[in-house]
Amino acid sequence: MNEIIPCDIIQDLLPLYVDGLTRETTSRELEMHLARCSRCRECFERMRRGIEEEKSLQQQEAYRDRENPGDQENHKKGQKYQPFPVNIPAV
Ligand SMILES: [Zn+2]
Repeated sequence: MNEIIPCDIIQDLLPLYVDGLTRETTSRELEMHLARCSRCRECFERMRRGIEEEKSLQQQEAYRDRENPGDQENHKKGQKYQPFPVNIPAV
């Protein structure tokens, strides 16, 4: 039997899959769907890129704050701010 999961369900699950929160069975179904469905694959690629951009944005913000005293003022009032990530994972 060849069950087809609707694209809506796949796309609902994609954020979990990108975060690595789906179970093995779910991941396999998602991968199978992505292999066949270019629309969902596009959605997946966009999501994955978004997460990578988010990570590099956080690093960019650290640099930007050092050059922008106005922003720093806000950070002083608010939460403590770490200018650099403490643990840089080895790639
Ligand atoms: Zn699809």
